[in-house]
Amino acid sequence: MKRITILGAGLSGISLSYFLKKLGVDSQIFEKERRAGGVCSSHIKDGFTFDVSGHLLHFRDKEVFSLVRSLLGDNLAELQRDARVYNFNSFIPYPFQVNLSSLPPAVYRDCLSEFKKVRNNGSGPKRPRNFLDWIYKNFGRGIAEHFMIPYNLKFWRTPLEELSHSWADRLVVTPSLDDIEDSANGRKRRFGYHSHFYYPKKGGIEELIKAFKRESNEVFPRHEAVEIDLKKRVVEFRNGSREKFDILVSTMPLPELGKIIKKIPKYIAPYFNKLRWVSIYNVNLGMDGNIMPGRHWIYFPHRDTSFFRVGFYHNFSSYLAPPGKSASYVEVSYSKERPIDKKGIAKDIESDLRKVGILNGSASICCDQINDIEYAYPVYDKHCESTRRAILKFLYDKDIISCGRYGSWRYFSMEDVILESKRVARSLTKNARNI
Ligand SMILES: Cc1cc2nc3c(=O)[nH]c(=O)nc-3n(C[C@H](O)[C@H](O)[C@H](O)COP(=O)(O)OP(=O)(O)OC[C@H]3O[C@@H](n4cnc5c(N)ncnc54)[C@H](O)[C@@H]3O)c2cc1C
Repeated sequence: MKRITILGAGLSGISLSYFLKKLGVDSQIFEKERRAGGVCSSHIKDGFTFDVSGHLLHFRDKEVFSLVRSLLGDNLAELQRDARVYNFNSFIPYPFQVNLSSLPPAVYRDCLSEFKKVRNNGSGPKRPRNFLDWIYKNFGRGIAEHFMIPYNLKFWRTPLEELSHSWADRLVVTPSLDDIEDSANGRKRRFGYHSHFYYPKKGGIEELIKAFKRESNEVFPRHEAVEIDLKKRVVEFRNGSREKFDILVSTMPLPELGKIIKKIPKYIAPYFNKLRWVSIYNVNLGMDGNIMPGRHWIYFPHRDTSFFRVGFYHNFSSYLAPPGKSASYVEVSYSKERPIDKKGIAKDIESDLRKVGILNGSASICCDQINDIEYAYPVYDKHCESTRRAILKFLYDKDIISCGRYGSWRYFSMEDVILESKRVARSLTKNARNI
């Protein structure tokens, strides 16, 4: 039997080990940190449970849904989304593009007439060449300029002409004119893939990791891979230990993997340097009082606030904050080219939270916990697809499978990661048996 070595015990590594075990194959997982979880970890501090920013479960795939339900058992709640967009000094229901009637009347008319132009008259770009074109083609100038463009510029920190739109059809709600008119007439429908979502009743999102881990192979924590010798098929770890592999599955971020491959061929090295990503500075806050009852998260598209999204853990599960307190996640995006001042950001966040009315009156912050997520979102620029393909092929030819959100370099949700792990487990065992 071939020796399968997995680098990284985030959801990808853990779920892969789970599926392999179901197929009767052992694997070993080596994790850099002190425990499994990766970006699906939860941190307990002063009675609050904080995730690494908001992590909500959405399901399109029935099998993944039933697997997660069976793993979490009773510990899974379904919630109907109450998300908002802060625009024109108010909290407009999300998705913005189907709630235009909540806007000031002149803005509503502008957005609607421009939307009709692109839908009925086919004005705007015919074939979108990039994400900016895609926005204009699907929404028209009004929605584009009042929400889509400022929000995406703030989030991606990249000119939108440089982004492809390959990911957007799947993730961005594109309504019909009927949808918009129905919503203006008060006929409510569910929009978007996360119109409802699931979350553990007790504990944070790490409950999912724990559930997979109970049925996967052993995780070796504090094992940071620092060198991979392709010739000898050996991984070396920072703690001095070494591991021989037949097949290596890496779930660590591709740019980091590129750095630790010994004698990487000259032709492939430049591909690793082409990868771009957005980082998220996640400030979790514990607050006194009941903040924003019922709300799940709010988008902030404009530059007058430091954050692009704020969410409310205590409205996912009351167990995430002590009685009488609230727990919130604040997300600020940055990149290598557009950094933020991490020392000064806490002050800006607090004053912006007061400005928009999330913190009001005597409400105060009693606890914070910070996650600086360097590799948060792969940037889908025009090189992204060909670059990741070239890298993954090079690795595959050397018996390295690179998977997971940052290993396969895709805008993957937790569900996508689980599905991919299942595919990888099947391909590794050449076993189509149901798991
Ligand atoms: C801010 C944010 C919000 C998100 N919200 C949602 C959401 O609401 N819903 C949803 O479905 N998905 C969400 N996602 C996506 C979801 O978190 C990911 O798809 C999933 O958790 C990725 O798991 P992974 O195992 O691929 O990566 P990771 O969790 O990053 O795991 C990789 C692991 O590799 C380890 N590692 C790295 N380098 C080394 C090394 N050299 N040696 C050994 N180990 C190493 C890391 O420590 C880590 O544990 C969100 C992601 C982010 C960043």
